[in-house]
Amino acid sequence: ESFEGSKLPEEVLECCKGFKKPSPIQSRAWPFLLNGRDFIGIAATGSGKTLAFGIPAIMYVLNKRKGKMSSGRNPLCLVLSPTRELAQQISDVLIDAGKASGVKSACLYGGTSKGPQKSALKAGIDIVIGTPGRLKDLVEEGVCRLSEVAFVVSGQPSEHVSHQFIGNVRIYIHWIACLCYLLAVVLDEADRMLDMGFELEVRSILSKTCSARQMVMFSATWPLPVHLLSQEFMDPNPVKV
Ligand code: AMP
Repeated sequence: ESFEGSKLPEEVLECCKGFKKPSPIQSRAWPFLLNGRDFIGIAATGSGKTLAFGIPAIMYVLNKRKGKMSSGRNPLCLVLSPTRELAQQISDVLIDAGKASGVKSACLYGGTSKGPQKSALKAGIDIVIGTPGRLKDLVEEGVCRLSEVAFVVSGQPSEHVSHQFIGNVRIYIHWIACLCYLLAVVLDEADRMLDMGFELEVRSILSKTCSARQMVMFSATWPLPVHLLSQEFMDPNPVKV
């Protein structure tokens, strides 16, 4: 596997310039994630998993923009992380990776004032990286909007979705009357997140996103509570790597 073989645009691969080739988790995850599949990755820190989901998240935002399938006001991707440090690490990587293509990321975590995080959200953020507690607060305050009520136009066919062709424009219409801009969710270190008692927050946040979302989970281990969460919130047949 090579970066050329991934057929990703140059501005998106800018952040990989210092690397020889995609890491194993990257070359295995990218094709599925770029295709809109739900995905479970068992991978440790240090395996390159941030860009394994980060680059597809950036591509997701760029594709929504190109298809004019977003209002441009609300986040399109959400990355949930168990700790503030990890959330910050992820957001540092994604802020840098999105620079050349103009995809904006921001980090929402607790233990600090909400002001700057609210301002960032108002200014327009494409990818939100957050810890469950603060994220739930900001969602409940209505500052971080995870969905907009209307109907779903989603790039990813699923069983809830019917597709019709108008010319060469493919339109997917969700039968449930909601237009949800937040369609891609990444749960990073899912096992640690549940260990730390965030299960209720995670469930509450996930239930506010649309059922047609693409869901990606990374975990170092695969204990029962994580398994149950994946069964509840993912497609019946996610890709497991
Ligand atoms: P992560 O697992 O995302 O925390 O990444 C661990 C380290 O691997 C970071 O310092 C990355 O900059 C680096 N890294 C990410 N992708 C690659 C790659 N394809 N080749 C070499 N190093 C990488």
